[in-house]
Amino acid sequence: MKLPVAILISLYVFALPTSHAQTNAARTGVSPTASAQDSYLISITRSGSRQPSKGPSERFTGTVQIEPLFSAHDPSRVIGGSVTFQTGARTAWHTHPLGQILIVTAGVGWVAQWGGPVQEIREGDVVWIPAGVKHWHGATPNTAMTHIAILEELNGNSGEWLEKVSDEQYRK
Ligand code: MN
Repeated sequence: MKLPVAILISLYVFALPTSHAQTNAARTGVSPTASAQDSYLISITRSGSRQPSKGPSERFTGTVQIEPLFSAHDPSRVIGGSVTFQTGARTAWHTHPLGQILIVTAGVGWVAQWGGPVQEIREGDVVWIPAGVKHWHGATPNTAMTHIAILEELNGNSGEWLEKVSDEQYRK
């Protein structure tokens, strides 16, 4: 039984530097290989400091305002924005390579996937749209809706934009 003990001791010795590095990474919350000084600092973008933009007409129907909340901080791939749809406004049909989460923060809206029913979503609801699923989201004809959208980019790509949602499709 001497050999197994020797192996255990050598495993322990070799494991030491690795576990020490892991402890440091856990303490700082960043990878030891991160180079830019900024990546070690907490950053805050203040409310009201982010410039909203109008949703482009090739991707949206109606009046849509997009407030970017955060872009991807490498190695994270998560991006987020707050999107407000005025009554009757909606996205075009589209897909996301790694899916999307919608958190409704105001109003009442609709969401639908290709071949499925139009579903009502309300303030406080959380919607998961799986990767690659063709869908749209927006306000209802009579109520505005705001949601926070959170999604992961894949090789810098956040979605594939398709045809507009027709008036025929935009009904419940
Ligand atoms: Mn979407």
